[in-house]
Amino acid sequence: MPTPRIAIIGAGPGGLTCARILQQHGITAAVHDLDASRTVRSQGGTLDMHPDSGQHALREAGLWEAFLTQARPEGKQMRLVGRDGRILFDAIPPEADTTEGNPEIDRGQLRDLLLDSLKPDTVRWGHKLIRAEALGNGTHRLHFTDGTSTDADLVVGADGAWSKVRRLLSDATPRYTGVTFVETGLNDADTRHLRLAELTGNGTMMALDNNLGFVAQRNSGGHIRVYVGMRTEEDWHQRTGLDLTDTAAVREALLKKFTGWSPDLLDFITRTDTGYTNRPLFALPVPHTWAHTPGVTLLGDAAHLMSPFSGMGANLAMLDGADLAHALVKSPTIDDAIHAYEVLLQPRSVAAAEGAAEGINSAFAHDSATQTLAHMTQHH
Ligand SMILES: Cc1cc2nc3c(=O)[nH]c(=O)nc-3n(C[C@H](O)[C@H](O)[C@H](O)COP(=O)(O)OP(=O)(O)OC[C@H]3O[C@@H](n4cnc5c(N)ncnc54)[C@H](O)[C@@H]3O)c2cc1C
Repeated sequence: MPTPRIAIIGAGPGGLTCARILQQHGITAAVHDLDASRTVRSQGGTLDMHPDSGQHALREAGLWEAFLTQARPEGKQMRLVGRDGRILFDAIPPEADTTEGNPEIDRGQLRDLLLDSLKPDTVRWGHKLIRAEALGNGTHRLHFTDGTSTDADLVVGADGAWSKVRRLLSDATPRYTGVTFVETGLNDADTRHLRLAELTGNGTMMALDNNLGFVAQRNSGGHIRVYVGMRTEEDWHQRTGLDLTDTAAVREALLKKFTGWSPDLLDFITRTDTGYTNRPLFALPVPHTWAHTPGVTLLGDAAHLMSPFSGMGANLAMLDGADLAHALVKSPTIDDAIHAYEVLLQPRSVAAAEGAAEGINSAFAHDSATQTLAHMTQHH
């Protein structure tokens, strides 16, 4: 059999894990990403790596030791704060315990770890897929916005929430979950002696009540990332004529929504210094399934976009990438590999997506303070 041409669309945690494990077994795959370069975009917050998924994939990729040099075990701290600013629950992990539980790593550090492990030029930057055309017998022609095209015997849709590859397999599109995060943050948090840094602790702090809430996460380098969350209409800002580029106006609108909350918590709106980014949260319908199709499959968010309340999205993307790579290594044909991989993928993504839907609904409910406290007390 001639060497199969494998095209992975998307250099996120899922696509890169797949490419890395394939390379370790001597199989070449090209990764195409729309970003102009690896540094063009900030990669966002911190991720906790779970033993059976993210950690397992890192081990399979031969990157466990490298991960440990950057992981933050103390980042596992989980704290719940009431709307009055009182700490209601605080789970502090044992110190220097890296292998138990879910150590954290910044998304950017994880991406660098994976990118640095690949052979040079594996990732083709500035390659935004616009269309995949079926040529028959499982072969596809991929068309990119720069006018180039390439043919592939296997197309792996690792292109995230708004996947273009998904269109080859299903009509499903992500739906708004009813919850929007407005992202903000604070640099050099430790040098400022602010109450918000104290409240955040070393890991994640949540304050959730009556369809509103704050999620603050400690990142590396003294940075705190903050998500100001609310159950609201997707076009909440348009309805009130709010200009999202007007920082002062966004701040004022958020403060109004959080009227009556502790001044310590309102600092998460007023004392941050990175501006505000509106992030409505979307999820694919559950279950998201498709009929087996030769020459194409999906992994990660492209297959099972879910709200961040599963805490599993990146972990599952990496596990998918590892499982697909192993299926390709072990199976006699690409088609056998897709079958073997999709049998693993479907049930676990349905279970996680159902958990994520439940999680976001209880975190942004009328009685979310009570529900979240009960949940945390039960699970820690
Ligand atoms: C606020 C928030 C917090 C989260 N916290 C966690 C957490 O704590 N733990 C966790 O496990 N998960 C978390 N997640 C989920 C996690 O970020 C995603 O599930 C994960 O990034 C999915 O990985 P992926 O490789 O499937 O896709 P992505 O990371 O989305 O990567 C897709 C890649 O495809 C590229 N791409 C997109 N379209 C095209 C195209 N047309 N052509 C070429 N390239 C394209 C993009 O540039 C990108 O590099 C969180 C998500 C959010 C929104």
